[in-house]
Amino acid sequence: MTREEAETLFSQNVPLMRKTCGQNTKIIATVGPASRKPEQLLALIEAGVDVFRLNFSHGTHEDHLEVIRCIEEINREYHLHIGILADLQGPKLRIGKIENDSIEVKPGDLITIVNEEVVGTRERIYMSYEQFAEDCEVGERILMDDGRLEFEVLSTNKKDTVVLRCLHGGILGSNKGINLPDTHIKLPSLTEKDLRDLDFILSQPSVNWIALSFVRSPKDVEDLRRRIEARGHGAKVMAKIEKPEAVRNIRSIVKAANGIMIARGDLAIEMPMERLPMLQKEIIQLCMQFSRPVVVATQMMDSMIKNPSPTRAEITDVANAVLDGADAVMLSGETAIGAHPLLVVRAMTRIIEEAERHYWPQIEAKRPKAVTHASTFQNDVICFNACRVAEEIGAKGIVGLTVTGYSAFKMSSYRPKVRIFIFSDKRHILNTLNLLWGVQCFYYDRDTGTDETIQDCNDILKNAGIVAPNDILINTASMPLHKRGRTNMLKVTVVD
Ligand code: PGA
Ligand code: MN
Repeated sequence: MTREEAETLFSQNVPLMRKTCGQNTKIIATVGPASRKPEQLLALIEAGVDVFRLNFSHGTHEDHLEVIRCIEEINREYHLHIGILADLQGPKLRIGKIENDSIEVKPGDLITIVNEEVVGTRERIYMSYEQFAEDCEVGERILMDDGRLEFEVLSTNKKDTVVLRCLHGGILGSNKGINLPDTHIKLPSLTEKDLRDLDFILSQPSVNWIALSFVRSPKDVEDLRRRIEARGHGAKVMAKIEKPEAVRNIRSIVKAANGIMIARGDLAIEMPMERLPMLQKEIIQLCMQFSRPVVVATQMMDSMIKNPSPTRAEITDVANAVLDGADAVMLSGETAIGAHPLLVVRAMTRIIEEAERHYWPQIEAKRPKAVTHASTFQNDVICFNACRVAEEIGAKGIVGLTVTGYSAFKMSSYRPKVRIFIFSDKRHILNTLNLLWGVQCFYYDRDTGTDETIQDCNDILKNAGIVAPNDILINTASMPLHKRGRTNMLKVTVVD
């Protein structure tokens, strides 16, 4: 890139400054029939969406492909770094079809689960888990339809038939989900459908994050990562925490994954629901310690699927997720199939903005320290101290140059009181980093010396109106630049 081209880039970078001094906490919106048109996606971005989620439990590959193309186009045209998160369904269990789509089950009723695809009646229903009879044990709990109906295993022939006794009854419709919190499920973490979906996802270079549902152990995460790497794809793995086994293995899963989603929908069915609030806080804290971005998901603004404004409980829930230290809050049905996707995102943005005005006293004591025994110790110390110096010196922000994104993960996890401006010549990395708390991304690919690069970065920020003359910035880089190593330099500069 020549100096002239850099100049053009400065001006091009201006429209992307939409959220210059906006929120640190990011918004992820699930795309669906209510939001997949180009003008709808663009309006949601303007309202505050940073990352779009493609939910592979719904929609065809053609649907998802169209959305991916559209986001790529928007990123190109508006010089944005909107990220794409592809969410795999995982081993989600369901019952089969039900006679007339409705049967009534009462407490004490006995129901038999069979592994042949019968139309369900009050006597017999099918479940999409062929080895259920082998894997379950007498006394285990079975939940259906988001936990509305509850059963226990009365007997199993360890082959193809399980008799359940109903504890909490209700009306059961076709294809409802099943949760087995007690059962050691022997299904692989990637089903045949997941493998087909993954094959499609990995054919799309612009997917930044792949979420894995019902993760049970770090092996699940590593298995997915191996498949991603085998295809030479740059996507990062997000582990969805929604099983008791995952909660038990949380530390090793956080370490193995690049990011974590607190998938409260299934988590609150599989765990005693009253544990959810503290689990959320503890998992967020752990993620901050290990520099893993963490997403709080499900039912954040659920009532807005129908209504034009959120409930008091929802307003408070979103604000509390921010104050717990989440990197991002997520919308599912609200933006995918809801009546008011745009109003939802606008409301969420307002709640985040206000919550962030009260952020520091809540978060200060929870901020991580640089881990002294890591092999990346020297780099980590620079990143953490860049944040401290920036705060102590009253800088406007920290400017980081990154090739792998590593330093951005580190700086973001420290939750500094100043903005984090990340520059890179890797668009895929920038779009990936857009999910991280406080990180604002800029494309920059001029191949020159450190001094000039720092000058360029600061100029881009000045021309975008983000910083003004005499503002202080903390610049970090890896010297010499061409070696593209880990961050090893910290410099205090004054914008001229
Ligand atoms: P899902 O995951 O929407 O794919 O089920 C989120 C959750 O369980 O909360
Ligand atoms: Mn789930």
